[in-house]
Amino acid sequence: MHTHHSALGLATALRPAQPVTLIRPHAAVRAARFFVEKFPGKSLYAVKANPSPDLIRLLWESGITHFDTASLNEVRLVREIAPDATLCFMHPIKAEEAIAEAYVEHGVRIFSLDSIEELDKIVRATKGATDLTLCVRIRVSSEHSKLSLAAKFGADPAEMKQLLIATRQVADALGICFHVGSQAMSPKAYVDAMERVRAAIVESAVTVDVVDVGGGFPSVYPDMEPPALEHYFDAIHRSFEDLPVSYSSELWCEPGRALCAEYSSLIVRVERRRGNELYINDGAYGALYDAAHVGWRFPVQLLGEPQSDTRDMAFSFYGPTCDDADHMAGPFLLPADTTAGDYIEIGMLGAYGCAMRTGFNGFGNGDTHIVTDEPMASLYMEEMEATLSSNVVKL
Ligand SMILES: *Cc1c(COP(=O)(O)O)cnc(C)c1O
Repeated sequence: MHTHHSALGLATALRPAQPVTLIRPHAAVRAARFFVEKFPGKSLYAVKANPSPDLIRLLWESGITHFDTASLNEVRLVREIAPDATLCFMHPIKAEEAIAEAYVEHGVRIFSLDSIEELDKIVRATKGATDLTLCVRIRVSSEHSKLSLAAKFGADPAEMKQLLIATRQVADALGICFHVGSQAMSPKAYVDAMERVRAAIVESAVTVDVVDVGGGFPSVYPDMEPPALEHYFDAIHRSFEDLPVSYSSELWCEPGRALCAEYSSLIVRVERRRGNELYINDGAYGALYDAAHVGWRFPVQLLGEPQSDTRDMAFSFYGPTCDDADHMAGPFLLPADTTAGDYIEIGMLGAYGCAMRTGFNGFGNGDTHIVTDEPMASLYMEEMEATLSSNVVKL
């Protein structure tokens, strides 16, 4: 893999005919260190957000020791890259064979569940193992989040008492976990969820060893500027300290998006312009799934030299496949003279961007390059500047 100084430099030098994935290892390292140092507990990386082996290795080397996996392939992948990592199989509905292989061959001891059926499955698949950490997932609201995760998984609060008591009987360590939905725009999401956890603990009168607040930590996108992550960590810490089990239990979180959104971006080329529509060479079946299917707005910039001084206008994008659905409504703000042959960087695609790529219609390959410039937006840069300036003061 080649290293370039900047997205603009790369586009100018290579004029690539295929979309190029840019990766910024320093951005992932910065995010990992932030969570390792500042989250008041343990941070598990949720692999589904971006399963790139290079990224998993970087996070491991930056102090992320636990990985939240949701499928057997993710378990195998992380085990191969980081043999000493602690793997947590946090999909609440698993194949019995997957549980057995994870337990026997990959040393997985941490599983989640949200039903008695799944608990029975785990007991059968591990042949009544006595060394399990079992996390019961409770359903919580997604009202503060941009992408809901409230419908599919999670035991109803009314079912929690029975499930916690039954799980306590077979688990070496008992956990409660939840997911507030992805891109939670307010720390209140976690405070409200912790209230449900508290009620479940009080009602079932079990001792709980792990409280896992899941993912949902936000990143920055156009029109989505969340409060600083420290506010989330503080709110979670306070809610945790208020739980009756805080003296004896561990606090965990499972960030996906927040750890990897800044890690990748994409350079695309405009192949045609039709009014305010740009036909680009990546799209809904490539790294822009969320832009097409949930209307996510990613930041964009024209990579031109000299920079266009034309005012910005709102564009929508068409991707390269022959499918009408390969359409990203945006709006994406770019100079009004943007035209065929121009290169555009689309930012913040490290989470749920590059992970979604398919080969549909023969598109979907392209090179990957490392760049050392900064991502188009960051939740961590102020932190970096603060660190730099305090070093300067010390000197
Ligand atoms: C997707 C997922 C995560 C990561 O969520 P983000 O919103 O990307 O932080 C964490 N835990 C579980 C169980 C998930 O399904």
